[in-house]
Amino acid sequence: MLRIGLTGGIGSGKSTVCTIFRELGVPVIDSDEIARELVVPGSVALQQITARFGPQVLRNDGSLDRQRMRDLVFDDPDKRQQLEAILHPLIRQEMERQIARLHAPYLILAIPLLLEKGWQQQLDRVLVIDCNEELQRQRATRRDGSPAHTIDRIIASQIERNTRLAAADDCIDNSGSLASLRTQVEMLHHHYLMLGKRNGPPSPQKTL
Ligand code: ADP
Repeated sequence: MLRIGLTGGIGSGKSTVCTIFRELGVPVIDSDEIARELVVPGSVALQQITARFGPQVLRNDGSLDRQRMRDLVFDDPDKRQQLEAILHPLIRQEMERQIARLHAPYLILAIPLLLEKGWQQQLDRVLVIDCNEELQRQRATRRDGSPAHTIDRIIASQIERNTRLAAADDCIDNSGSLASLRTQVEMLHHHYLMLGKRNGPPSPQKTL
């Protein structure tokens, strides 16, 4: 099964593109969704996180305070690394478990920090969703209700646009309308279907 890694900066349109792929019947595995499911109360991951960072990262109901956790690791590379050391192996394991159950010519692995984390080696192709930073800022502030400076901080912490584009095998330009976005996804879908059929059975040595 052909593995397409989908990535892009905040507000670039990743979730919107994933929805369109899903509507086309393509399996989409989302690393953020998995990360959220991994830290439900009572999970091993949440126990490890609480042991490492203390009960300050929990809400009163025992669930992870994701905003608190994000604030805690944002400017602290050591803490971020410790959090990732807990979560990333579990995310990869869960992705592999989900992939193993799928049968399709190709699948999408939506991984926002794919390039930042160097996960592209385990994928067949990298698909970048792109638009300029001004559009990213506008769309993300409107979606999240966050101030522009918060979105700017996140944009600045992510890989640079040119570096991201340089790593792309395929790119969707999301600076236009939603209709234009859909057309590009449909074209890529046909391309991937063709590549997936040519690709043949899954390669056993490829693991995330
Ligand atoms: P990401 O998942 O990359 O952070 P989203 O897919 O959530 O980005 O898109 C950010 C916001 O912009 C969402 O509210 C989405 O509905 C909107 N959006 C995405 N693409 C377009 C577009 N081409 N035109 C108008 N709004 C868009």
